[in-house]
Amino acid sequence: MAIPLVNLKRQHEALRNAIDTAIAEVVNRGDYILGNAVHAFEQEFAQYCEVKHCIGVGSGLDAITLTLKGLGIGRGDEVITQANTFIATALAIHHAGATPVLVDHNPQTYNLDPKQLISAITNKTKAIMPVHLYGQPSQMDTISAIAAEHGLLVIEDAAQAHGARFQGQRCGSFGQAACFSFYPGKNLGALGDGGAIVTNDDDLAYWLRSARNYGSKSKYEHMIPGYNCRLDTIQAAVLRVKLQHLDIWNDTRRQLAARYMDVLEGTHVVLPTTIDDAEHVYHLFVVRCGNRDEVIEALKNEEIFAGVHYPQPIHTQDAMRRICIVPRPLTNTESYCNELLSLPLCPYITGREIDMIAAIVARVAEPAKSIALQEK
Ligand SMILES: *Cc1c(COP(=O)(O)O)cnc(C)c1O
Repeated sequence: MAIPLVNLKRQHEALRNAIDTAIAEVVNRGDYILGNAVHAFEQEFAQYCEVKHCIGVGSGLDAITLTLKGLGIGRGDEVITQANTFIATALAIHHAGATPVLVDHNPQTYNLDPKQLISAITNKTKAIMPVHLYGQPSQMDTISAIAAEHGLLVIEDAAQAHGARFQGQRCGSFGQAACFSFYPGKNLGALGDGGAIVTNDDDLAYWLRSARNYGSKSKYEHMIPGYNCRLDTIQAAVLRVKLQHLDIWNDTRRQLAARYMDVLEGTHVVLPTTIDDAEHVYHLFVVRCGNRDEVIEALKNEEIFAGVHYPQPIHTQDAMRRICIVPRPLTNTESYCNELLSLPLCPYITGREIDMIAAIVARVAEPAKSIALQEK
C-alpha cells in the first residue's frame, strides 16, 4: 500500500464520527459566520497555548499579515526572519507593507541563527520573526534577549509547531503574538484552510477581531478598513475535535521520530538534532543526504512519497527576488536545499512503515556534501 507524506485519510477515519457530529451541529445551528464553534475553539486554543487571546482567521498567511499590520509594522520597516522558511512568512511581511530581511539558519537546528540575526539588525528593524521550523522550537531565550536589547518585537511563526515547548513554555507564548496555520497537513489541521493568532496583548487582540471582520466594531459600524478573513465555523468545529488529540498525536510523532533515528543511526543521512530543553513536535522529519533526488526516486518506486521543505529558497524565487533584503550570503540555505529530504511522518503511520522507509533510505543515501559547512 502507498505511503503518503502525511496520511490524512487514516486520521480522518479515526475521527470520522466525531467530526461528522461536529459539522452537523454547525449546520443545525446555522451559525456559519463567526459562529459558536469559532468562539469555543478560540477559547480552547488560547488555553492550550497558555495565552489570553486567540483570534481565528482564514489562513496562516492572513494570521501573519494581520498581526504585523495590527502592531503598526509596515512601509519602511524591516522584519528579520530566516531564509529557509515557507514563502508565506516572507510574503506576509511584504503584504503588510514591510521588507523581509532574510538570514541564514543554524546548521544543526535549521532555525534562526542568533549571530546572523544580530548582524542583520538596522535602524529600520522593527521585529524578529522566528519560525519554529519542522516543529522544533527556536532558541527563544537568546532571541528574546536580543529583541529586548534592541527594542524589537518578536512575532513567532508557529505554523509548524502546535504544542511544542521550550523550557516548559508553549511555542506561541513567547512573542508579542504568534501565528498558526491549520492547513490540513499541519500538526493541528482543518479540512480546509484556517489560521489563528494567539497573544497576551489586549489591544492587538481587539484590533485583530475587528480587522478580520471588515473592521467592524459592531454590525455595520466600522472602525478600521478591515478584511474578510475569518476562521470558518465548520473548520473551527473540526479543529475543536482534533485539538483534543493534539498532545497524544505529538507524543506519537516523537516516538516515530525516535524510531527513524534508531534505524538511521550510523547511515549516511544527517539526522535532526533537538536543542536543550525543547519538546520538538516533528511536524516534519527532515534528514539530509548527497543524492536526495535518487532517494526520492527509490522511495517512489515503492509507492512511498517523501517531500522537500523547501527545494528553492525564497530569495531566488521570481516573486521575491526584488522584494527581500539579504544582508549576508545564505550559504547554508543555498547548499542545504539540494540535500533536504522530509520522510513520511504523521501520527497515523505505523512503526513497520517507518522501518520499511528507513531501510530504503539507509540502502540508497550517500553522504551530504555540505557536511563540512555544518561542522565549521
Ligand atoms: C504553512 C505555513 C504558513 C502558511 O500557512 P497557510 O495556512 O498555508 O497560509 C506560514 N509559515 C509556515 C512556516 C508554514 O509552514
